[in-house]
Amino acid sequence: MANDNINELTREDFDAGPSSYDEIEENLYLGNLTAATDIKWLKDTKITYILTVDSCPLPRQIELLPNVNLKFIKITDMPREDILTFFEDTYNFIDSALQDDKKILVHCYFGVSRSATLVIAYIMKKYKITYENAYELVKSKRRFVGPNPGFIAQLKLYEKMGYTIDHDNVEFKMYRLQIAADNVRKAKILPSNFIDLIKPDPALTTVRPEPTVYRCKRCRRVVASVSNLLPHLPHERQIWRYVSTKKHDETSSKQMQTLAKIEKDKKDSASNSAEVCTKTYFIEPLAWMRDILHNVEGKLNCPKCETKLGSFSWVSGSQCPCGAKIAPAFYLVPSKVDWSNAVQNVLVTI
Ligand SMILES: [Zn+2]
Ligand SMILES: [Zn+2]
Repeated sequence: MANDNINELTREDFDAGPSSYDEIEENLYLGNLTAATDIKWLKDTKITYILTVDSCPLPRQIELLPNVNLKFIKITDMPREDILTFFEDTYNFIDSALQDDKKILVHCYFGVSRSATLVIAYIMKKYKITYENAYELVKSKRRFVGPNPGFIAQLKLYEKMGYTIDHDNVEFKMYRLQIAADNVRKAKILPSNFIDLIKPDPALTTVRPEPTVYRCKRCRRVVASVSNLLPHLPHERQIWRYVSTKKHDETSSKQMQTLAKIEKDKKDSASNSAEVCTKTYFIEPLAWMRDILHNVEGKLNCPKCETKLGSFSWVSGSQCPCGAKIAPAFYLVPSKVDWSNAVQNVLVTI
């Protein structure tokens, strides 16, 4: 069929090139789209599992092949694209094929960045090895592998979380907030699939309330728990960044140690920890923050007495007086809130 609009490039204009694939370990193949659509090769090699990570699924004639298990993940090869949240799912898919002694092809368009990222994540978790070691291992079998810088940063975060998704990890929280912020920038509202980022109102939480809380100085209403804090170090550029740098990794590991310390003495105030900056309290978005769902930025007023406690900004973020820049930012001004813990409150009540 003739293409009427000859100026418009279609996907077919970018050729994935000749069939290209490599066996990374027994039965695990990594390759390009041409390999994944080569029916003769698929049959000859006895590939029965195909993991596609691309902007569109495989053509119908591949989907209709008998006895072939397909999985499709829609991701473009951009550094700000979220690939990390699929690692658990893709690990299980690859693992089920290999456990069953079946051959699996993991592919994207060129077999360089997206599919390589999923295979590296698999190798990391399987052998409990670092990103660097897994990358070297995969590269020794397929010399073109090269995850984009954003995917490298996500693989390193996966390593820090112990090859799992740790929803309490502060870097992971910032990571998801940044993906949500990208969506807010485009849509001007928070899409519903990110609604889990809005944490319950700590004043209304009756199940295991946390001992350490922040209260509005004026009316004493609870406005945040210590676990809602997203601590930062003075002068830090960002808690989590899409592009990994050596300097950032060092800061980040220092920060993780600091955070571990905070976790340990949760009974004390987080502000007792000397290294963490206390000039601004950056926190997670909370259910009482009414305007954050449909505004890009604005004030955070106490839900009870309406005193201004801080501000939020999905896109520009905020700069702390210490010099740290955090985006997106939801923050309380320390002079407007008090911290208190349950033990202290009981004493006051008696
Ligand atoms: Zn208040
Ligand atoms: Zn600061």
